Amino acid sequence: MRNKGIFLGLLFAGLSLYSCKDQPENIVEVTLPEEQQEQKSELASPDSVKADGKFQLVKLPYTYDALEPYIDAKTVEIHYSKHHLGYANNLNKAVAGTDLESKTLEEVLTGLDMENKAVRNNAGGLYNHNLYWEILSPEKTQPSGALLEKINADFGSVDALIAQLSEAGAKQFGSGWAWLVVNKDGKLQVGSTPNQDNPLMPNVGISGTPIIGIDVWEHAYYLNYQNQRPKYIEAFFNILNWDAVAKKYEEAINK
Ligand code: MN
Repeated sequence: MRNKGIFLGLLFAGLSLYSCKDQPENIVEVTLPEEQQEQKSELASPDSVKADGKFQLVKLPYTYDALEPYIDAKTVEIHYSKHHLGYANNLNKAVAGTDLESKTLEEVLTGLDMENKAVRNNAGGLYNHNLYWEILSPEKTQPSGALLEKINADFGSVDALIAQLSEAGAKQFGSGWAWLVVNKDGKLQVGSTPNQDNPLMPNVGISGTPIIGIDVWEHAYYLNYQNQRPKYIEAFFNILNWDAVAKKYEEAINK
């Protein structure tokens, strides 16, 4: 028995050596289709991403690779189809069978019990990312109309606003968001919040309707920019959809 075991062991060792050494072409043929498969799923349509329950992600208004070179396709895909979807699914689980299930996302946030961490993190995560995708675009846009007038009135210039927002994002310690909000007096205001908190929630240091949200979690930029958050923030302004921000401004002041 013992000899047979040794013999089989040697036979297998020999076979595996043989297959590694002499058949490189076969190995290539086997791995290639798998890589192609991966490539295919990487460029899958974002439309197939659906949350399980009432609260849903916004439809991504472009393909995963549309924001390149400012934000790479892989980052957008993981961010939307994994992180954002995760917040939506976890919110649906957290509100299942409670009064919150019948509320809008905004109502859940404005009336939030800050001690309810599951709802706080996931309702915040869902809302914040909905806003983030909606205000990005591969098209180059410029601030205009009433929004531009208001930016000039409240900050002096668009560049001054961008500088303040960039600083708020860069200085946010750890994960969080930088915001431009329309506050209750109709004034534009810059601030930041940790984690997935946002200015609709009570007592987070900045209050109002968000019209720009910059995600400064590492998952938003690490593949492309590693630790260089300011470079990612600079890139963000190249793909900021000022038309979408202007629309959100109009909606906020007419509420
Ligand atoms: Mn994020």
